[in-house]
Amino acid sequence: MSDAALRAQALEGLAERLRGCTRCPLSEGRTMVVVGAGDPDADLMFIGEAPGANEDRTGLPFVGQAGGLLDGLLGGIGLSREQVFIANVLKCRPPGNRDPRPEEIAECRGFLVEQVALVRPRVICALGNFATRLLSGHPDGIGRVHGQPLPITMGGVDAILYPVYHPVAALYTRAMLGTLQEDFARIPSLLTAGSAPASPRSRAPRPAPAPPGVEATSQLGLF
Ligand code: SF4
Repeated sequence: MSDAALRAQALEGLAERLRGCTRCPLSEGRTMVVVGAGDPDADLMFIGEAPGANEDRTGLPFVGQAGGLLDGLLGGIGLSREQVFIANVLKCRPPGNRDPRPEEIAECRGFLVEQVALVRPRVICALGNFATRLLSGHPDGIGRVHGQPLPITMGGVDAILYPVYHPVAALYTRAMLGTLQEDFARIPSLLTAGSAPASPRSRAPRPAPAPPGVEATSQLGLF
């Protein structure tokens, strides 16, 4: 079995564990665990905060209006949802869409680290303020750091953290769509920056490429 097939199999095993997870109280109110979805060998991974009502109902990440916007933004750079991997920091919906609590993050974060370690993305796109602060380990908000790539290490994988506004922001502020489109337009160059993938692709932890504008390296504060 190929390395990619083994990692895909391990991801499915992780999904099974997640579906039965009762490690934090969010298990009591959820309808479905939102494991994450997409290409288990994706170069580009999106990480949001936590499932909303539509995700909780369907078990899929980023559905509804925000999901449609994400699909459109991906289409704008020639990608489809099937070519990326989409996950959240928390896999179960916080009631009333409240912010995740530290103890919930502490219980769930290991699952996200496992997902990153198995998918081995080159670029991790943090969607919105919460995911950006958590993954960067820095308090700077999304308004300050969006569109600014930062080399990170997560789950033993060297990658580029690339914060963008959460697509839902464009539902409330139409001008935000232009900002999102501009930030998304830089993703293809981030994916190809630095070393080209080996053939067949070897996804062992690798040094992060340093695209233009990258000035600092971050070890993740919470991961
Ligand atoms: S949020 Fe994470 S830790 Fe909590 S029950 Fe769901 S899968 Fe388990």
